[in-house]
Amino acid sequence: MSKSRVVVISCSSYEDSKVMEALESGIQALGGWEGFFAKEEEILLKPNLLAKAPPEKCVTTHPAVFEGVIRSMQQGGYHRISYGDSPGNPVIGTEKTAESCGLKEAAIRNHVPLADFHEGVLTTFEAGTHTKSFILAKGVLEADAILNICKMKTHQLERITGAVKNTFGCVYGINKMAFHAKCPDAMSFARMLSDLNLLVKPRLHIMDGIMAMEGNGPQSGTPAAMNVLLLSSDPVALDTVFSLLIGLDPALVPTNVIGEAMGVGQGRLENIEIHDGQRILSKEEAYDRFGKSDFDVYRGTTEETQIRLLRPIEGFLKKRPVIDRDKCVRCGICVDSCPIGQDALKFPGGKPGKRVPVYNYKHCIRCYCCQEMCPKDAIWVKTPAITRFLDRNWKL
Ligand code: SF4
Ligand code: SF4
Repeated sequence: MSKSRVVVISCSSYEDSKVMEALESGIQALGGWEGFFAKEEEILLKPNLLAKAPPEKCVTTHPAVFEGVIRSMQQGGYHRISYGDSPGNPVIGTEKTAESCGLKEAAIRNHVPLADFHEGVLTTFEAGTHTKSFILAKGVLEADAILNICKMKTHQLERITGAVKNTFGCVYGINKMAFHAKCPDAMSFARMLSDLNLLVKPRLHIMDGIMAMEGNGPQSGTPAAMNVLLLSSDPVALDTVFSLLIGLDPALVPTNVIGEAMGVGQGRLENIEIHDGQRILSKEEAYDRFGKSDFDVYRGTTEETQIRLLRPIEGFLKKRPVIDRDKCVRCGICVDSCPIGQDALKFPGGKPGKRVPVYNYKHCIRCYCCQEMCPKDAIWVKTPAITRFLDRNWKL
């Protein structure tokens, strides 16, 4: 079995020249742009445009990385480039989100147009093992190839969001919400994401891990300096190395395990070659040089396994979203983002007022869309004390 290569390049700032140098070194270690794209192809850049936020919040791909990729490709003779993503809030749209995080300006400066993310096209995928059809943004289907420029962040459902999860933005607007209802747990969501990756098959993945997001990600977490760019043609291998660098057992990440089982890529470190742009590193050396042991990510053992074994007290074990009354501005975005609707989360009386939205945990499927979309960092995910105790003492 051939190993997947993941290139980890040190880069400690978003200064244009440093990012460019790191990108050039990384792409050379993978054989150059020509190994991935032909000059006449239409190439879609797929950054992370989760929500409107300035770059320093680390919610989105940093404009310096986005622009570095564009410039490096243009210098290499690639001029048929566009960009796009479906943000978490479909009402705000791609352009306004790109504007707020600096990507629109970078794109205009380099004459890169926005791809068509205003229209969705039903796309069947007979080979899918879990999901047989997706409504994809038209711009995804119009491109010959996709270059995934993801962000290194935590995620409450999948623990991390990296290369595999970033392709979810290829799904058109509001249809993303429907998948949260259809795939309510981390494993089924990972199966859907794996099918999506097999369908849209980005040829190359570049991860912005210069400043990552730890804690309450993917929108409300804390910036954390990881000082790296990761590059690979294999999204599962890339996320597996991301897991290694934050001291998280890669086998605890559903998209790594399911992604490998479904043939998206390599989810085991022994099948991955880690390269620093000069030479191959052992996993220990990679962790010593680039790792951060105190990165704030949920490292508990699989909650699902515990819950299966302790079904009678299931309600006491499950993590749950909780609203901080002092931070909540009663905007209602969380209520509108819930794929279950008012049965799971609503304002008392059904309308925004003085009181914060209330959860009905019996109906809540723990997709954490509400937490993901809250613009005020007012929702956090509480792990019950008994689950924390089991995580510490009951290694499954
Ligand atoms: S999205 Fe956040 S700030 Fe807005 S109502 Fe919900 S919890 Fe409050
Ligand atoms: S309340 Fe939040 S976590 Fe629960 S189903 Fe709705 S969006 Fe998902």
